[in-house]
Amino acid sequence: FPVERIRNFSIIAHVDHGKSTLADRLLEITGTIPMGDNKQVLDRLQVERERGITVKAQTASLVHEHNGTKYLLNLIDTPGHVDFHYEVSRSLAACDGVVLLVDANQGVQAQTVANFYLAFEQNLKIIPVLNKIDLKNAQPEVVLEQMRNLFDIEPDEVLKVISSSRFYSCYTYVPNPRYDRLQPLKAFVFDSWYDQFKGVVVHIAICDGVAKKGDRITYASSGKTYEITEIGIMHPTQVPSDVLYAGQVGYAMMNMRNTDEAKIGDTFFHENKRVQPLPGFKDATPMVFAGMFPTDQSEFPQMRNAIEKLTLNDRSVQVSVDNSPALGQGYRLGFLGLLHMDVFNQRLEQEFDASVIMTAPNVAYKMKIMGEKNLKHWGTDFITVLNPCLMPDPAIITEYQEPMVDGTIITPADYLDSITALSLNRRGQLKDQSYIDDSRVMLRVLFPLSEILVEFFDELKSLTSGYASFDYEDAGYQLTELVKVNFYLNDKDVEELTMICHVSRARETARKVCLKLKDTVPRQQFVISIQAKVNQKVIARENIKAYRKDVTAKCYGGDISRKTKLLKRQAEGKKRLRKIGNIDVPKDAFIKVLRK
Ligand code: GDP
Ligand code: MG
Repeated sequence: FPVERIRNFSIIAHVDHGKSTLADRLLEITGTIPMGDNKQVLDRLQVERERGITVKAQTASLVHEHNGTKYLLNLIDTPGHVDFHYEVSRSLAACDGVVLLVDANQGVQAQTVANFYLAFEQNLKIIPVLNKIDLKNAQPEVVLEQMRNLFDIEPDEVLKVISSSRFYSCYTYVPNPRYDRLQPLKAFVFDSWYDQFKGVVVHIAICDGVAKKGDRITYASSGKTYEITEIGIMHPTQVPSDVLYAGQVGYAMMNMRNTDEAKIGDTFFHENKRVQPLPGFKDATPMVFAGMFPTDQSEFPQMRNAIEKLTLNDRSVQVSVDNSPALGQGYRLGFLGLLHMDVFNQRLEQEFDASVIMTAPNVAYKMKIMGEKNLKHWGTDFITVLNPCLMPDPAIITEYQEPMVDGTIITPADYLDSITALSLNRRGQLKDQSYIDDSRVMLRVLFPLSEILVEFFDELKSLTSGYASFDYEDAGYQLTELVKVNFYLNDKDVEELTMICHVSRARETARKVCLKLKDTVPRQQFVISIQAKVNQKVIARENIKAYRKDVTAKCYGGDISRKTKLLKRQAEGKKRLRKIGNIDVPKDAFIKVLRK
């Protein structure tokens, strides 16, 4: 395929507006997969299927005939959720245009706005498409007006489709790549992952030149050289083609031993034919941090291995080593959001069979320290606290700062009052509000990140019967007042629950956590006292009554084999327990405590 007949594009939209469905129809129409009951074919991960969301951007190459000419289409399906914007902006780097889908019933939503600007900032051709116009409640005129108000897109520029009936031709509006196959090879790595059987696999876009099986290539960042052992296109799974030309998107393998050799955003070229590398990606900024430890210290090597492989596929996770006297050796990980954290955790378990404990999620606080030890920086030193356990003594802290986000909420105007109340309750500052059509409003609210991490989204959805949407972006740091809250079971510090919170929140949060602990920590053969303290002062307390548990009590001595079986089962159960003093706590109890 000459470049004039190649189209590289991506589908972007708010969650559930139909990206994956359109991708399915495209795969069918082009005969890439058989017609039939295909559902979100590109959502390959188990976690994606279970949750019904796209987490990883996926590529597929398709061949389509339009007016007698055959086109090679490289389609990239992207996730919509705010936590995965990083995936979206990365895949856009391999595209020349985007199809911006808007649900004709739901209209423009918060992530539609965010995704629009991601594409707009990268100067991509935007093909606006109004989707689901078959729905009974579709309001195409209203939505078209929203698109005009927000994006300056005229109604006659917008394609109107049902699922995909006319969709396939919209790629003809995407400009072709401006690459040259006669130039020396320049390949851009925009994704990579670890395949259990094949090793490291990279997704590449060939910018210039030709890459063939057997070619010796060198990476710009490391200078390391490899031989391409397999190369091909995603159709929609790996199909070897032995060669990729300029403008094509595909995959390659090159016997990489170490997962960290394939950096996303890197460029490679033919050995000894160095070209100017492409600008890489700017690093994702993690927003939420949590400690991750193996359930059993002996499993630390497996966990390290799993984390290394998974972070190869998910570059947005920030990893640093962590040590806890109670939990042993582990990692402190930075995520783009709570959903991202959940998904990472689930992928570790499902794809790598790793069993882990995660501590409570928190944000990164900045604190100004007056240090006698380090006179040079006296009174001016800011430290970043990722792990609440490591927060210095408040006596030497002169200033606290917390991370803020610019939130965008789009809602029917009827809910304006309740949303304003919710925002104030979450320490939000209303910055702006404007009507995007007769009945819908877009709000801009500055929130402390910590306030929207837990349950904010659920609360917003239930307040508005699901009609409001929310998205946010980083807005730097702001001055604040913080305290550290410690939790104790029978006077033993439960490190994984240590939290930093806003002064005004301490008492309420501590009380909630104590109550939840009371519910989740199983009764033992003695009384357990639960306490929350700030600066050694108790701010909340509960008690768990004693309970006698003997698994063999029912077996009246008679059946020995049954008794040993039961005891064995109990011993296995204990492995999943964490001992705090002499108290056995199931490892997932803490997670339950921190989320309802
Ligand atoms: P994504 O989150 O953007 O990838 O959205 P999905 O492709 O998973 O689609 C979300 C839901 O919308 C699915 O239940 C689809 O069956 C449905 N859907 C997609 N396109 C259409 C359409 O044109 N008409 C109707 N009625 N439903 C659609
Ligand atoms: Mg999807």
